[in-house]
Amino acid sequence: MLQLKDIQFSYDQGKALHDINLNIPQGTPVALIGESGCGKSTLLNLIYGLLQEDSGTISFNNLILDGADHHLVPGHPMMKYVPQEFDLMPFTTVFENVGEHLSIQMDNRADRIIELLAVVDMSDFKDRKVKTLSGGQKQRVAIAKSLAQQPNVLLLDEPFSNIDNFRKNDLRRSLFSYLKKKNITCLIATHDKDDVLPFTEETIIMRGGKIIDHRKTVDCYKKPLEVYSASLFNEVNVIRAGWFDNKEELLCYPEQLQISKKGIEVTITNCYFKGTDYLIEVTFQEQTLFFSSLQSLEIGKNVLLGLIKK
Ligand code: ADP
Ligand code: MG
Repeated sequence: MLQLKDIQFSYDQGKALHDINLNIPQGTPVALIGESGCGKSTLLNLIYGLLQEDSGTISFNNLILDGADHHLVPGHPMMKYVPQEFDLMPFTTVFENVGEHLSIQMDNRADRIIELLAVVDMSDFKDRKVKTLSGGQKQRVAIAKSLAQQPNVLLLDEPFSNIDNFRKNDLRRSLFSYLKKKNITCLIATHDKDDVLPFTEETIIMRGGKIIDHRKTVDCYKKPLEVYSASLFNEVNVIRAGWFDNKEELLCYPEQLQISKKGIEVTITNCYFKGTDYLIEVTFQEQTLFFSSLQSLEIGKNVLLGLIKK
């Protein structure tokens, strides 16, 4: 169990984290989401021990972890951190980068490195020097390296940001199933809902240095507490009381509105092709709404929209 109690943290310029309380059970994949500058990287740095909290405690399995002021070599041995700017040895091979912290005498050292290169789909590059790799390939090497010493906790800061979409899904599936198999806790800061929804069990939503929501990922998505939270996942519609048979204002995603025989009459203002469907932008009572449609629709046309209940 990774536990944070009443954490406060300030940079010289001002306070960056307020009243952070967290309990993360071993082996749980957790997403850390929120707008840029809300404190995600700061929180990961603090958990890893690169920063010193002003007050509060961080503990792992009931053992209090000292902050950065208390150790010479930053970081705690049971954790690994892949920061936004990862550091690799450029003039060394992919293979030796992944094995950097593994003893040369270790039994099965090569097998372990090869297993991890397969997790990140970099086996074919094992003898390449890191400086010859693309940003996304380096990112994958950094992830493999972070797993080499079998950490209990893995902290990832926007780990797939440089990786092409073509590879991203494969890598996500392979990495998260590896973490699950090894019971490694993973805290992943991201702004990509495709990292969050299919792969994490819990989601922490941050805003202005505070945690404003921490629930099961499914609940954070399906029952968002406010527009800000919902908009981190998708376009969000604010449905005023009485538009449908709703007595109170409610939030809904584009897939919850659809053309129907009765409902609100809206005017189509834009139509965006998204691959599997179209995102249709409409106006109703001077407010912009979005819904998804399998067909492309004509701009300027009026249609009736119904609400699909969750
Ligand atoms: P996020 O990762 O969510 O984008 P950060 O944790 O990087 O956010 O930043 C949180 C806040 O702290 C921002 O206001 C940012 O400007 C500030 N900040 C981040 N790093 C530093 C630093 N090294 N010194 C001073 N302020 C910083
Ligand atoms: Mg960041």
